[in-house]
Amino acid sequence: MTEPRYFDDSLRLEFQAEIEEIIPLPEGKLGVILPFTYFYPTSGGQEHDTGTLGLAYVLDVYKQDDGRIVHVLDRQPGPAPCPARIDQARRLSNMQHHTAQHILSGAFDHLLGLGTLSANINGDSPSSIYLDSGSLEPEALQQVEDFANGIVFENRLVKSYFITDSEIEKTPFRRPPKVSGSIRLIEVDGFDYSACGGTHCPQTGMIGLLKIIRTERVNQKLRIYFVAGGQALTLLQAYQKTVHLAADLLETGWEGIPEAIRLQKEKLREQHLELAGLREEKRNLEVDGLVAASEQVVGKRLVTAGYQSRTPADLRLLGSKLAEVSGVVAVLGSADAAKLSLVIACAADTGVVARELLAHLLSFVDGKGGGDAGLAQGGGTADSLIFSKLAEEARTWLASKH
Ligand SMILES: [Zn+2]
Repeated sequence: MTEPRYFDDSLRLEFQAEIEEIIPLPEGKLGVILPFTYFYPTSGGQEHDTGTLGLAYVLDVYKQDDGRIVHVLDRQPGPAPCPARIDQARRLSNMQHHTAQHILSGAFDHLLGLGTLSANINGDSPSSIYLDSGSLEPEALQQVEDFANGIVFENRLVKSYFITDSEIEKTPFRRPPKVSGSIRLIEVDGFDYSACGGTHCPQTGMIGLLKIIRTERVNQKLRIYFVAGGQALTLLQAYQKTVHLAADLLETGWEGIPEAIRLQKEKLREQHLELAGLREEKRNLEVDGLVAASEQVVGKRLVTAGYQSRTPADLRLLGSKLAEVSGVVAVLGSADAAKLSLVIACAADTGVVARELLAHLLSFVDGKGGGDAGLAQGGGTADSLIFSKLAEEARTWLASKH
């Protein structure tokens, strides 16, 4: 079994490593066992440390079932004993988030009686706790956050010590330990007692700041995402940058952003209404123009109009307006690259079935479509030159059928 010295001193980041065994691993990596180590192995929801061991990089650290801790190296470390160095930023961030997790779980338990079902500690992305609760109001979350930061600012001692079975009964655990025998206890001085094998800050002040950033409902439970220490600062800096950018774009100060957005939305809504009115007017004028230019075929007013790059939805709107005009049979088309959209619109008093005329025209462009007696829509592969042929076919079809 490897002696886990990170239990005794979470601030120690350098040591002389003795090497007990080197095991070859796939892809040229090596698994190195030391008699004792300060490298933390992935466990209890906390990620492993990284760093260097002699000449090698420590890529991963894990604990085997037999209690031996394996340091995964990218190359031979060189002769033992060799200097070992733990990555300071990663360890610090893990410590800050792990200690923050104890305090946050303690605060939810203390203020709201909510238990933590599991925790996930991340040094470089938000950490989370999984709460036995469906949802929480923002006010309750802020209350917990304020309380937890109070514990941080008090700079309480975070003690770690081992207790035996007989002392378990007397210890006010937030959550009863799952293991028995010798248990490692983490005590946030007088506030929270948890069985834990992780690395923690020696005093709560080292966390700096604890910030809840969002919640997520999962299976009737609640996941609370939070950041602490350096990650909280990085996030605040990113927020500030974004907020200032938004404020500049809106030509206001950061406090004025919500009001500026509200005003812009209002203005936009008014402009949308105005635009819809103008479009309606334009369409009516267009309909008038098309009807005026229509030709008489067997007593109907045949409208044929070919366009480029008009959307099918736009053609359909135009068609439904034309179908309201007495006597109108309209054939509208729009070519876009190799695609042709067709809309057929027939006024009810013409007795012409739009769907039938469409089916006839689509047979010339290998197309598909459908509709009813008044309006039918379809499309096929064709070029822009095909439309005059289709207009002619419509003319012939109308004359022969009616
Ligand atoms: Zn812990």
